[in-house]
Amino acid sequence: MHVHTVIVGAGPGGLACAGTLAKAGIQPLVLERKETVGPKVCAGGITWGGLISRVPKELAEKSFPEQYIRTPLQKICIKEPTPIIATVNRERLGQHMASTAVDAGAELRCGVMVRKIENGSLLLRNRADGKEEVLHFDYLVGADGSSSLVRRHLGLAAERLGIGINYQIPGDTGRMEWHLNTRQFGNGYAWIFPHATSISIGAYAAKETMDAGRLKKNLIDWAAGQGFDLRRHKARAEYINYDFRGWNFGRSFLVGDAAGLASGLTGEGIYPAILSGEEVARTIADASHSPAVMNSLIRNHARHSRMVKLSGKSRFLNAILAELVTLGLRSGMIRFNKLEMAV
Ligand SMILES: Cc1cc2nc3c(=O)[nH]c(=O)nc-3n(C[C@H](O)[C@H](O)[C@H](O)COP(=O)(O)OP(=O)(O)OC[C@H]3O[C@@H](n4cnc5c(N)ncnc54)[C@H](O)[C@@H]3O)c2cc1C
Repeated sequence: MHVHTVIVGAGPGGLACAGTLAKAGIQPLVLERKETVGPKVCAGGITWGGLISRVPKELAEKSFPEQYIRTPLQKICIKEPTPIIATVNRERLGQHMASTAVDAGAELRCGVMVRKIENGSLLLRNRADGKEEVLHFDYLVGADGSSSLVRRHLGLAAERLGIGINYQIPGDTGRMEWHLNTRQFGNGYAWIFPHATSISIGAYAAKETMDAGRLKKNLIDWAAGQGFDLRRHKARAEYINYDFRGWNFGRSFLVGDAAGLASGLTGEGIYPAILSGEEVARTIADASHSPAVMNSLIRNHARHSRMVKLSGKSRFLNAILAELVTLGLRSGMIRFNKLEMAV
């Protein structure tokens, strides 16, 4: 079998790429190893300014004009006239993006694992019956997340990684909270993100400042102090790749986490995945396309990475930076959207 463009991975990056290509008249094939599109370890926070224009408002489970931020020295609440962040259910977001792409003309095959990549061809395995198949392509898009096979095929290492741990627990709470504490969460933070009928409680830190075991233990201890007994629930953890080393490799492209475009500072990756997926599609459809949006995204990403590097130098420096940023937010000198990946 031969296709014009094959996209490996049906996360937000792969599906945004597929939908944009299909709308441009190219019918891509999307391959997804999971049986269902959407489910993913994630807190489901989307930035209102950056993302809500790309997904229907009704997908937002809850939206928050107020953000509560806590550091060892400060406890602040910032307010905006419009919501700053909303929460979405990743399965519903994935299903919505998949039907948009398929309605536009993309083909989606789930339960298909890409096992091997050679020049111009992929070896696929159908997970239901174990049958293998060779697929030939003109263009290859790696949208296969933080442990991307396409990225490895291109010979790119992924050394700068963040660790995200999430507990999705039943319940309801009204406040979206961020807790910064160097001792507990390295240069990351813990969060409380309310969803429709559940709460995402988790922590993120750059791997270089905190190992996964310690982050999980600190998260459980901290959550107990907030009134949540996480030991009764199942933790789910994944790496978030922020080691960006390029996206356009001739006839092969990387998007989202596969490209290392998630923010190393906050772990925000849905928006960069969608934006980069769209930009890759426009580049495949029109070789003369000027990737101005991608360039802005890369600039934002570099700004976040510089802050991660600086805050990773020492605990003391990180603690000072966290207090200064919180002070800046409290005084209005720093707008919350400066911490987002939105371009
Ligand atoms: C705990 C945690 C909390 C997070 N919270 C947030 C948040 O609140 N907001 C936010 O914006 N971001 C968050 N993120 C990051 C966000 O989830 C990712 O950045 C985003 O999903 C990246 O999208 P993607 O399309 O690049 O990759 P993914 O969503 O990872 O999709 C990749 C897809 O490729 C498939 N795949 C992989 N290998 C193969 C293969 N060989 N063959 C076929 N298919 C394959 C996978 O099954 C997967 O479906 C969080 C991450 C974690 C770990």
